[in-house]
Order: sequence, then C-alpha cells, then structure tokens
Amino acid sequence: MCGIVGYVGYRPVAELLLEGLHRLEYRGYDSAGIAVQYGNTIEVRKKAGRVSELAGLLKAQPLVGKIGIGHTRWATHGATTDQNSHPHVGGNGEVVIVHNGVIENYDILRRQLQTLGYVFRSQTDTEVVAHLLAHNLEEQTRLHGSPEDLDVCLKAVEVTLNLLKGTYGLGILFRDLPDTVIAARCGSPLVIGVGKDEYFLASDASPLVGYTKEVVYLSDNEVAVLRADALRIDHRSNGSVNVSVKTLEQVASDTDLGQYEHYMLKEIYEQPTTIENALRGRLDNEEATAVIGGLNLSAKDLRRIDRIVLTACGTSWHSGLVGEYVLEEFARMPTEVEYASELRYRNPPMSDRTLVFAITQSGETADTLAAMRECKRKGHPTLAICNVVGSTIAREADGGIYLHAGPEIGVASTKAFTSQVTVLTLLALYLGRMRHMSYPAGKRIIRQLRDMPEKISKALECHDKVREVADKYHHFNNFLYLGRLYNFPVALEGALKLKEISYIHAEGYPAAEMKHGPIALVDQQTPSVFVIPRGGIYPKVVSNMEEIRARRGPVIAIACEGDTDIARIADDVIYVPDVEEYLQPLVCAIPLQLLAYHVALLRGCNVDRPRNLAKSVTVE
Ligand code: GLU
Repeated sequence: MCGIVGYVGYRPVAELLLEGLHRLEYRGYDSAGIAVQYGNTIEVRKKAGRVSELAGLLKAQPLVGKIGIGHTRWATHGATTDQNSHPHVGGNGEVVIVHNGVIENYDILRRQLQTLGYVFRSQTDTEVVAHLLAHNLEEQTRLHGSPEDLDVCLKAVEVTLNLLKGTYGLGILFRDLPDTVIAARCGSPLVIGVGKDEYFLASDASPLVGYTKEVVYLSDNEVAVLRADALRIDHRSNGSVNVSVKTLEQVASDTDLGQYEHYMLKEIYEQPTTIENALRGRLDNEEATAVIGGLNLSAKDLRRIDRIVLTACGTSWHSGLVGEYVLEEFARMPTEVEYASELRYRNPPMSDRTLVFAITQSGETADTLAAMRECKRKGHPTLAICNVVGSTIAREADGGIYLHAGPEIGVASTKAFTSQVTVLTLLALYLGRMRHMSYPAGKRIIRQLRDMPEKISKALECHDKVREVADKYHHFNNFLYLGRLYNFPVALEGALKLKEISYIHAEGYPAAEMKHGPIALVDQQTPSVFVIPRGGIYPKVVSNMEEIRARRGPVIAIACEGDTDIARIADDVIYVPDVEEYLQPLVCAIPLQLLAYHVALLRGCNVDRPRNLAKSVTVE
C-alpha cells in the first residue's frame, strides 16, 4: 500500500518520478505527489486523485531538478485531500518526506509538536515525522554544527526514528543537504536501484525496470544515504552494512497491458502460462513426486512435521483453504488456515513439529509478515509461498516456494490465486509421496497436473457465455456464491472478486450451510452462483440448488462440460472442462473471475483500481 519513489542522479527527475508513480499506482491511488530539490530549494507538487491528476498539475507547474522523491497514497489517516497528500513538509521547509506505513503514536507526538509551535497542515500521521525531523535537525544543528552536514542530518533521522512507534518506509530530503536522498525502513518495503552515477528508491522494483537490474533490498532498521556517486547503508543498532547487490529478473513487457484493456483481463488470460510456470521443473515423473527446491528442510525434518498452519489474508487465505483440503487428502497432514491478522495476536498451541507457511502474492502483506515473524519467534520452521522475488516475506522466511507468475498489477488478484493453488497442490503431492501416497497415485496426479495449462485454456473459452450472463445479471445488488468441498473456497473467492471490483454485496457459503441462515436472503432479486462441477457429492449440491429454486432464486451454475442435466434446473450454465475434484478450483475460478470483470465493466466500475482498495497491503 502506497508507493514511494526517489531518485538522485543526472536525469530530469520530475518525469522519472511521475513514470515511477504510474508504475506503482496499483499500490494506492488516493493521491500523488512529488518533491524536487534544486540546490537549496525543495518544491512540492501534490494532488488528490490519480497520478494522471498530478501529471496535469506538473504540466501547468513544472519542476526542474535531478533529485527528488514521490508518493502515491493509500490513505490510512486523514481524508483523500490535496493537503493530506504526500510529500509532507516539516518545520519551515527544512525537511520534506514521503511515507508508507502507520505511525501509531502520532497523536501524542502531534500534541507535543504543537506545544512547541509546529503548525500542522494535514490530518495525516505522517506529518508528525516531517516536523519531528525538522525539530531534531534544529536540535542537532545547535549541538553539532550545520544542517549542511550529513552526519547532523543522520543524527536527526536517528533521534526521530527512535521516537516512532509503528511502521514506515521513508524517503527524506533535507533542504540544506543537496544531492542526497535518505531512506529509512521499518515494516514497509523499500528497494534501492543501483545505476551508474545514479540511485533509485522505490517501494518495489517496478519503477526500476528499464533503468537498472541491480538492486539492494533495504531491511528493517536500516537507513540508506543515496548520492549520485555513492550508496551508504547503516543499521540503526549494528552500524555500517555491507551492501549486497542482487539482480532483477523482471522485464518491462511484464508490466505492459499489451492487447488487453485492463490488467485484470490480461492476468486472467495469462493463467495457462502462469500455471505452467508454477509447475515448470517441479514434476518428477520418475519418482512420481514434486520437486520443491527451496524449502531448506531435509526429508527427515519434513517427516517430523505433524501439522501445517497456512496463514494469509484475502484471496491468499482462500487459496490456503484449498491447500488445507488437498494437504489433508494427499498427505494426510492436519492443516489449518489462519487469518494472518488474527494469528499475529493469538497464541494457539503449536508444537515444534508444526510447519508454518505464509501465503502472499506480494510478499509484503503487513499482517502476514507479522504473523510469520510471530511464528518464527516461537521457533517454528516458517516458509513462504509468494510471487515477488526478494520481497520481505521471501527474504525473512526460512525457505519457500515462488509462484513465478510475473507481476500482478490488477488489484483484484486472479493469476496469483491459481498459482498458489497449483503450488499448494505440488506441496501436497510432495509431502504425500513422503508419507502415504502410492507410486501410481503420484503418477496419476502428475499426469493431471501436466494437463492443467491446456484445461485452463479450455476454461477460458467460456468467456462469451460469461459476458452474456453478466449482461443478464449485472443490475442485481445481492449475490450468493455456493459450493462444497474444494469448491467452497472457490465460492468465497468468486464472491470476493465481485465485491472487490463491482461493489455488489456477495456472500460465499458452503452450499449446504446456506439453509442455516443465508437462505433467508433468497428471493427473485438474489441470484445464486453455484460452483457445481461433477464429483462425489454432486447430487447433494443439486439438492441445494433445488432448495434455492423452490424459493424462486435465480441460479447460475458453473458446471462440467457435457452436464446437460444441470441446465434443466439452473437458469444459466457456464461450462468448464471436467477435471479431478482437487483441480476444480483452478478451472472454476476462471468463469468467476471473468464474471466479476464483466459485471464491474457493465456497472461502470474501474476494474484495475477499485475504490478503497490497493494492492499489497503494507499497513495493518
Ligand atoms: N499513513 C500515511 C497516510 O495516511 C501513509 C499511508 C500510505 O502508506 O500510503 O497518509
């Protein structure tokens, strides 16, 4: 949430920052702003609304310089107004900052600063950091010398950070310290791009693509000094840090829209490829098992494990639920799925034989990171299933499995979900083959997994039918999504997609559970989307569907191709390829993603930038 950019070097900075903010906009789009330093002046342009609004402002009031910082906001404190937009100015303009995160003790700090005479221009928590820096700069200057001295500025940063509670990624400019960007991190991601005679700062690597492949990931409690000719990083307690430069794999075309109108649609259509990427090199036909390289646990360690906890938020939590079913079925492994935001503060009994997986697309989700740290603190082996290479969770986990799905820009997650489910299935196969699963069973699963990219391509052929269904139902304001067993998490995910991008109230429920409450909602104005491919309890789900029909609820069915019976009960049927039950979440997710997409379009919603949401939730 929120995107930070920064630059020091030789390029015209305003254009560069603006481009970086465009690329980071998926992280937050309540407002945007930049600050540019030229000699001993810093000028700020900021505006509520999208980055394009800021671009318009910059056209009218351009900024010239080669050093600067920028921000695209996802508001936590204070409305989405021009004043609350970042950058924020401290004191009388001695300091300008951008911030990602939440300052939890901002209220008391604000009152103290007001007593000292500081005037607040915004309602944000961030502004206290700006004034605190200005205040401490004055103090340090009085004690140690001049505000033009880097050490004096760094001391002001240190004293300020010591007073903050909460999370931050900060980009800082000091007016009297030209040619320098200072960055500090605690809980919110920051990456530094290393160029020749230039350095970049960003919340994630996307603004760096096309400029440099060399990156340095800042860790918590590190403070970086970026100057055109040098990069220095200090740890707040341990002093100077040996800078470790990593190479980026991302290419610019990964973030291009190509032929598609929206990132969400592009990412839905990428799924045959992303699932293939998740499987690539991970199927061992000879041994009838999965190859999972990065767990960093020996077979012996893994055999000791007697319980798995999957922790995640949002869509990743839904993929975790599918994971629970498949891990229990294939590996006979007791598995629980925990909301990370709950787990971080709970203290459930977990023995040292419990293995924890944090599931997150971005690898930066604040709650998931905190839950993972909590489990690590208690000594559990803690692994990650994530997409973004080099992200905080990927780095802090003891090991893990990457999705290799490429950047997911659409705020509503699509391809990450199916890749997570694929990876969890591989994990179940791997652990299953270590325990109970027979060789022929392993072989059969491998064959079925190999077919999945093609099955997903076939599933995408439902697109025209989905368009038709969306057209018929888009004006309804309440939906139920129902499924059982493997398709219960799919129902939850389908409902979440609809809520996220079309702002329609939708509830996902186990199909049989609806008669214990939600059936009271059913009437002619409440369509139910049944995820009902063939399987062991198919007739039971048909009965659940009849129960809805008996109450005149319109029914849309997601069913297996060739299932003509269902068309006699449901009002509309969307067909997907017939696959084994454990693989049904993969094919059934496709029409639900497309349905949400088309309903949102028909209702005039911004599919890639839904209101109030942001990708990569880096605040609690
Ligand atoms: N807490 C800050 C604000 O509300 C920063 C939020 C963000 O990370 O975008 O402005």
